[in-house]
Amino acid sequence: MENNIQPLIDQLKNPSNVIITTHAKPDGDAMGSSLALYHFLKAQGHFVRVIIPDAYPGFLAWLPGINNSINFELEEVKAKKLISEAKVIFSLDYNALSRVNKLGDAITASAATKVLIDHHLKPDTFDDYRLWDSNACSTCELIYDYILQAGSMDDINKDIADNIYTGIMTDTGSFRFPSTTSKVHRIIANLIDKGSLVGQIHQNVYDSYTENRLRFIGHILKEKMTIVHEYNMAYIAITSEERKKYNLVGGDTEGLVNYPLSMKNIKMAVMITDRTPDGATEKTVRMSFRSQGDIAVNEMASNHFSGGGHKNAAGGTSDRDIDTTVKELLDILPKYKSTLQDD
Ligand code: MN
Repeated sequence: MENNIQPLIDQLKNPSNVIITTHAKPDGDAMGSSLALYHFLKAQGHFVRVIIPDAYPGFLAWLPGINNSINFELEEVKAKKLISEAKVIFSLDYNALSRVNKLGDAITASAATKVLIDHHLKPDTFDDYRLWDSNACSTCELIYDYILQAGSMDDINKDIADNIYTGIMTDTGSFRFPSTTSKVHRIIANLIDKGSLVGQIHQNVYDSYTENRLRFIGHILKEKMTIVHEYNMAYIAITSEERKKYNLVGGDTEGLVNYPLSMKNIKMAVMITDRTPDGATEKTVRMSFRSQGDIAVNEMASNHFSGGGHKNAAGGTSDRDIDTTVKELLDILPKYKSTLQDD
């Protein structure tokens, strides 16, 4: 399906009833894009609500407007009523309704016009209108494009700017991933002109660790990181017991997978986390892959661990126990020898 957002932009020149949704376990880009669009459409006279599948992480609690978002898990009845009354539903920063848990059924059941704005590969076609670009650094970049295309650059205020800045900053690893083009820096320059305070936003997002989280990182790096020199890779396996011992909450393991890549010769990192709920018989093991250069971790994730994602950042899952999953990971490395090993 081709991008066809202009007719939707024209349609939204008249006030409407709009719902904005984003993916489960929302990150900075998911919340930032949703709230930026929320502030923009609200100022244009629309009735707007942001509905998220589950809780947002604490380091985003300062984002302007986040207190008005509705958690579908906690307020399902209210959320369903709002969705049934909506004329337009936006899907931001996700490419398939499976990414929004039970919220997906409510979206499917709604007769509203569906709009996808996203940068993940291979989106499903559940939308009527879309603004999609897998080369965009973030969905926030696309929200900026949307506002530009609507001819409303002047309407970007500090609330909108701060949300877009946060999404771009977090999805580009603070402006260092290859997706950080000169265009991205030009957008950021404009956001600073709109009032965003660079130091303040970085501090809000990155200097918000709990003592537990920092001690957990120390434990992981000292005791749990295993380096496989032969393949220039490292992995970290986190058990349920460790998650309990350090009182980890949602988002606490976020970003840990990037640490091994800060070593000179490490080109790929994998974090394997046991997320089996208490008392469950079936295992839930989540995997997070990161790489540099030509190593396509999304292929590894989709070929072996029912996952996918971007070339240098992907996710996967396993229903085997954590030790078996680690062994399976180590077993597939020889298949990728040519890209993992030095020439
Ligand atoms: Mn994103």
